[in-house]
Amino acid sequence: MYKAPRGTSDILPHEQGYWRYVEEKAALLCQLYGYQRITAPVFEDLGLFTRIVAEGTDIVDKEMYVIRDRSGQKLALSPEGTAPVCRAYLEHGLYNLPQPVRLYYIAPAFRYERPQAGRYRQHHQFGVEALGDADPALDAEVIEMANQFFLSLGLPGFSMQINSIGCRACRPKYIEALKQHYSPYMAHLCPDCKVRFTKNPLRLLDCKNPSCQKVAETAPKSIHYLCNECRTHFESVQEYLTALELPFQVSHRLVRGLDYYTRTVFEIQSQEEGAQSALGGGGRYDDLIEQLGGKPTPSVGFAAGIERIISSLRARKVDVPALPKSHVFIAYVGEEAKLEAMKLASRLRRGQIAVMEATGSKSLKGQMRQANALGTSYTIIVGKAEVQSKTVILRDMKSGEQKSIPSAEVETALKGTESP
Ligand code: AMP
Repeated sequence: MYKAPRGTSDILPHEQGYWRYVEEKAALLCQLYGYQRITAPVFEDLGLFTRIVAEGTDIVDKEMYVIRDRSGQKLALSPEGTAPVCRAYLEHGLYNLPQPVRLYYIAPAFRYERPQAGRYRQHHQFGVEALGDADPALDAEVIEMANQFFLSLGLPGFSMQINSIGCRACRPKYIEALKQHYSPYMAHLCPDCKVRFTKNPLRLLDCKNPSCQKVAETAPKSIHYLCNECRTHFESVQEYLTALELPFQVSHRLVRGLDYYTRTVFEIQSQEEGAQSALGGGGRYDDLIEQLGGKPTPSVGFAAGIERIISSLRARKVDVPALPKSHVFIAYVGEEAKLEAMKLASRLRRGQIAVMEATGSKSLKGQMRQANALGTSYTIIVGKAEVQSKTVILRDMKSGEQKSIPSAEVETALKGTESP
């Protein structure tokens, strides 16, 4: 028996209500803020990610799903959504539109991680990207969107951490200071951090290993190394967030897992117990599009993990609207009646009535059991006598009341009745 690959899961019909709820909240939020949907392929040229997300990050070094297609081209299943959006922005000349261009996506992300609760090899992200504007007001807009998104979902208990990691002008000085701080402790660092020290020193700060955390606690803070422009930018972001009455904390150890961020970074943590508390995160990536061969295009975005959101909705027992069910079930007895039942079902659907048909040769009792299990409001029964008299039996499943009506009047009889 085959099973879904490790770290992936099927989203079964009874879970789809949560997905629809989250996707609808995301779409409504984006409509309110003027973000339009974009859908990129699920795989891209491998180079897009190695160049942009950068080697030295776990995502590229250890977690990418790389495929070589039959032509020998190296592709990667997208581990995140920002690089594909930037690639599409350049490929389709979206820089010719008035800037910033505001986009959103809902897409799967693939990372070869060690599966555990809240950490999967395929997960889904809702993300927004605002491309082509350096205004700190845009950082505040995106952070406010993230905030509003979780509130609108009915998940109020989260914290918003922000930080600034500077730009290519001021960050090298900070990295130098960070390395100086860490170098006496090299022997105490975990094997991963020993690699990070040379490949990606910023990531030293968010290592979960207790002995590495101890060193991180006293590490220099990036905000003390910002150039004037980055400092002013970060101050403005904080002023705007305060003016919008959005609660936040500055977290000096927040650096994010992807390498393309500049200036503002932020993360939304759920207050619930458990290791996988990051619900979403984002930041500025002012150099990314230039690295892809475009003109300087300062941009900012965020992404949230849908599986983690749904698990929080479940944990908090947030009620999500049930998906609509079929309104009517059609049962039949005999071949002749089957044909009439099929024709009637087709006619009702054309009139926008949701109908599920019986199939096969189940007994009428079996068909009624099926109708009950489906929870339809009405069952229509067609037998030989009904075919001859051009009538049907209409059964109200709630009251059990049954009446014979002309087949031509089914629509009128169902008018005004509510779908379950
Ligand atoms: P990231 O691109 O790593 O910032 O991820 C954005 C969000 O996606 C995170 O805040 C999580 O909510 C979610 N996420 C990231 N990786 C995983 C994963 N392996 N499994 C489930 N959700 C994830």
